Amino acid sequence: MTAELKKLQEIVNQAKNIVFFGGAGVSTESGIPDFRSVDGLYSQSYKYPPETILSHEFFMDNTEEFYRFYRNKMLCPDARPNKAHIKLAELETAGKLKAVITQNIDGLHQMAGSKNVLELHGSVLRNYCMKCHQFYDVETIAEGEEVPKCSCGGTIKPDVVLYGEGLDSDVMNRSVAAITKADVLIIGGTSLAVYPAAGLINYYRGNHLVLINKSSTPMDAIANLAIDGKIGEVLGAIKL
Ligand code: NAD
Repeated sequence: MTAELKKLQEIVNQAKNIVFFGGAGVSTESGIPDFRSVDGLYSQSYKYPPETILSHEFFMDNTEEFYRFYRNKMLCPDARPNKAHIKLAELETAGKLKAVITQNIDGLHQMAGSKNVLELHGSVLRNYCMKCHQFYDVETIAEGEEVPKCSCGGTIKPDVVLYGEGLDSDVMNRSVAAITKADVLIIGGTSLAVYPAAGLINYYRGNHLVLINKSSTPMDAIANLAIDGKIGEVLGAIKL
């Protein structure tokens, strides 16, 4: 065990209220590409950059093109939780971890068994009609190649926060409350480049800020423990 993993284990052993805050890097070991890694979606070539396609304006103006990209790249029906998702769920069951705050939209934390999951950017598993608000599951979206339509004729939209849209204030407030109360904040698999989500870490008041990432982030300098590594391997090594 490296000195860093030993330190992480000591922090977890003493913790009573861990909060985890993560991003797309948490799911890369489940086969879902992130945005900013070398093999992430930003490095692949499309007619438009992903940030443009995944924006409110683009959804409204080019709904068909949006769904072509979205079905191809954002829906990953075969993805399963990896060691990171599973260990976080186990930490919650053990009473040590109080909340998972995620920027991910893939539902893998819940699939692993986590209960208190705060989804800052929504979920691909929920979809609704923009006209009558009827809810639809992900299968309805995945099937077919057309723009998905409700029985009332309205367009169905994923319950995902697109660029240019605001975050749900209830989820945001609950995230702030969880981080404010945390004795340990573990941040992993996020470039901390997407705001306002990245700004949440400013609410942490403790002295056990742990960062786990494959590449450096703007917050490395203020972390009490920064671990350069794959999050599944690092969290997977924690003993309960
Ligand atoms: P990002 O792509 O900007 O950053 C991912 C970070 O994770 C990078 O710093 C990368 O080095 C690191 N990383 C990748 N694999 C890792 C691993 N195995 N272990 C440790 N670190 C790893 O992602 P972001 O910060 O979450 O922001 C991008 C936005 O894209 C978010 O809003 C998110 O909702 C969305 N997104 C979600 C998914 C998903 O739901 N799985 C996938 C792609 C993008």
